[in-house]
Amino acid sequence: MAERVDIVVVGGGPVGSTLALALRESGLSVTVLEARSAGVASSDRRMLALSEGSKLILQRLGVWRALSAQATPIATIHISQRGRLGRSVMHAQDEGQEALGYVLSYASLADALDRQLLEAGAARVLNDTRVDALESAEAEARVHYSGAGASGSMAARLVVLADGGRSLNDLPGMKREVREYGHCAVVGRVTCEFDHRHIAYERFTPEGPVALLPDGERGFALVWTADPVSAEVLCGLDDAAFLERLRRHFGDRVGRFLTISGRAAFPLKLATLRPVTAPHLAVVGNAAQTLHPVAGQGFNIGLRDAWELALTLRDTSAQDVGGPEMLARYRARRQLDTGGGIFFTDFLVRAFSNDLPGLAAARGAGLTLLELVAPAKRFVARKMSFGANG
Ligand SMILES: Cc1cc2nc3c(=O)[nH]c(=O)nc-3n(C[C@H](O)[C@H](O)[C@H](O)COP(=O)(O)OP(=O)(O)OC[C@H]3O[C@@H](n4cnc5c(N)ncnc54)[C@H](O)[C@@H]3O)c2cc1C
Repeated sequence: MAERVDIVVVGGGPVGSTLALALRESGLSVTVLEARSAGVASSDRRMLALSEGSKLILQRLGVWRALSAQATPIATIHISQRGRLGRSVMHAQDEGQEALGYVLSYASLADALDRQLLEAGAARVLNDTRVDALESAEAEARVHYSGAGASGSMAARLVVLADGGRSLNDLPGMKREVREYGHCAVVGRVTCEFDHRHIAYERFTPEGPVALLPDGERGFALVWTADPVSAEVLCGLDDAAFLERLRRHFGDRVGRFLTISGRAAFPLKLATLRPVTAPHLAVVGNAAQTLHPVAGQGFNIGLRDAWELALTLRDTSAQDVGGPEMLARYRARRQLDTGGGIFFTDFLVRAFSNDLPGLAAARGAGLTLLELVAPAKRFVARKMSFGANG
């Protein structure tokens, strides 16, 4: 006999945890099933650029208090292309914002969310529990799980899949389209000669974009996109050789690179799921859309998925949770924002990561135009901060 709850969240990563927190005091019983053991997210090395809009959501959930000391504000974003003319610079003060974004580690975000979830008693969290299959039907959805020496099934008015697209692929009535970019992101933390002055650099090169995000007092989080063979070579170089390659690739805008630590490589792809709902099932975060990190949009969009789903659920009577009308309202709330984020990110990757004749000049003209036309710059800054609905 399957246990019955209102909401089952599959995956207690940043998006799943945000949803569970946003549902506290909603009157709905929420269970989170998470494959990893408690505290294990701390080993994930990726750094995230959080938008101002995401900060506001985390503030409302009471998570930002614990995070603000670990988050480095971005006051300026400097966008350029290597060896070509054209650049654009955005300043937080020109946009009337405290910051254009915040840099913090995936691990500290996951830890803060886990702790707040526990303290707020917002949901029952079962760690070391892996969902192996899920079913969607007219009356309810069901998950089958195993772990911690036990296995079983749970039925829910709504199952929310937030597994990051990491495990469950065979989803009822849904199709996932995947386009491999043939790129990996080599990440790490560098220190350099000059202070970062809270400037984030995004530099486009024919081999792919490279980003330096201000991190802590003096360091930068590095996201260096390269083809898989080059990424493997970069990860295997000794520190001095790696830093010399980085200097040649990025230039000397931040002075000499002094140290590198925590190198790791992530393969990059665009994966989109259509549709993102089935009867009594909703898919959110990276499980619904996995993006290239070039525009730092992936988690920010996932966070808005979780927030908007929670708002939709709060506006729904218990017996209609997971029903067609509720799910249609959720899809309508998200369509423009996720579609815009996917298009914008994919456009940047395609337009800026090649050396086709004529395109470099067009990119230069585009960046110059963005620089000269204040309303266009404000539009881009606002969409990056608050999403397409912002
Ligand atoms: C190099 C890199 C840099 C990035 N930079 C940025 C950035 O600057 N800004 C930004 O917004 N985004 C960025 N992203 C994207 C961001 O990391 C993701 O969007 C975000 O982590 C998605 O969160 P999620 O909770 O959906 O999935 P995940 O973080 O993948 O979490 C999924 C959770 O589900 C659990 N799980 C998986 N399968 C199961 C199962 N079967 N049963 C139970 N639990 C399960 C996992 O253990 C995990 O805890 C970056 C990504 C990369 C690779």
